Amino acid sequence: MKFTDLGIIDTILKSLHAEGYEKPTPIQQQAIPILLKGTDLLGCAQTGTGKTAAFSIPILQLLHERGFGDGKGKRTLKVLILTPTRELASQIGESIRVYGKGLNLTHAVIFGGVNQNPQVAQMRQGVDILVATPGRLLDLMNQGHIRLDTIDFFVLDEADRMLDMGFIHDINRILPKLPKKRQSLFFSATMPLSIANLANSILTNPEMVKVDPVSSTAEKVKQEVYHVVKSMKRNLLKHVIHEKAMQQVLVFSRTKHGADRITRELAKAGIPASAIHGDKSQGAREKALAQFKERKITVLVATDIAARGIDIDSLQWVINYDLPNEPESYVHRIGRTGRAGASGTAISFCDIDERPYLQDIEKLIKLKIPVIANHPFPINERDEADHEANKGKPKPVHNRGGRQQSNNQRSGKSQSSGQNRKSGDGANAGGGGEKRKFFKKRR
Ligand code: AMP
Repeated sequence: MKFTDLGIIDTILKSLHAEGYEKPTPIQQQAIPILLKGTDLLGCAQTGTGKTAAFSIPILQLLHERGFGDGKGKRTLKVLILTPTRELASQIGESIRVYGKGLNLTHAVIFGGVNQNPQVAQMRQGVDILVATPGRLLDLMNQGHIRLDTIDFFVLDEADRMLDMGFIHDINRILPKLPKKRQSLFFSATMPLSIANLANSILTNPEMVKVDPVSSTAEKVKQEVYHVVKSMKRNLLKHVIHEKAMQQVLVFSRTKHGADRITRELAKAGIPASAIHGDKSQGAREKALAQFKERKITVLVATDIAARGIDIDSLQWVINYDLPNEPESYVHRIGRTGRAGASGTAISFCDIDERPYLQDIEKLIKLKIPVIANHPFPINERDEADHEANKGKPKPVHNRGGRQQSNNQRSGKSQSSGQNRKSGDGANAGGGGEKRKFFKKRR
């Protein structure tokens, strides 16, 4: 099935094409037609399945067809998308920007933990679409800055995570403020009774779509993890590329700066590489991707966001230079290899600070990733001691679903990215898990 089979308008098709999306994912194939005819939707799907596009595309199209976004008069709020974490809210906002290019619709993203004034100012100007975490939304509603009585579309995203994070009371306060007549969409990765009851109270005659959890894709890919201190990752990268005679490898970096640094490092070692990330022009990204596909370069270094839509047949190697703090991103990354029954291997580098991320990933994929201990840059006792001694200094703190954290790496260097390592609102401070040891100390 192609996007053109789904009744999507040309302007949006163009944006999808520019993003490199070639065909709709299963949830998109099922959900888009249902939503375009105005029906409520119960979606059993999790992050990594393409669900953001599945709900954003039809909403954007319906708003456009109903004549919003013509720029005449003040905007009225027509869409509310509730999501549990600041990171998810930002990602959805970014997706709406990308898919809605050329439609002249406006959106705002609001979440807690930051100054509310810019958010209030943006709302005052008028927006069509609001992406929000529940705590901050309720706050601004209570202060009279946001009203929901003009909403036509309501999306509750990641419902099970919302409940886990204790947002049910906020949600119950928000729901009565929505108009009864609206189209509602409800997404959850799991559907226990409490979630099904909540869905029931929100949806009217919904159609249900269910797609395989992303974690199942992980089973097809051979996975390995190398424990290594951060400063040795660059050497380890060159080592594994040579040792395994890799011809075509996609390397994931958490940050744009990191991606550039890795590319330079590889170039110095005579390994042809290019980076793609948000700071590169569309042209530069397309060129790098084309060169990679044609095997003119060996390594493509990408950030999670820039890697959207990268679809390379028979890609054999993926390397996670940094582990993502959202375990779903890991599954999505490694799903770039091992496609269509082809063999694929995903190698992850895990430094001491990243061990909690590894734990989250293993929990999601329900698999212990085999450790490759026999390599030239293992973590030794001295590294562990240094790490202990540096405790208390600024460093990343484990974040899963909205805990507070800081930005600095163990090296003390700042890793500004704007894509990751953000917190949700209404969540507890503190990380946890850094002290856990995953393997025996070596000399
Ligand atoms: P989501 O489940 O919405 O978080 O999406 C997961 C990732 O898949 C995001 O990076 C999207 O940009 C990407 N994506 C969504 N739909 C498609 C598609 N049809 N083709 C390729 N990539 C997609």
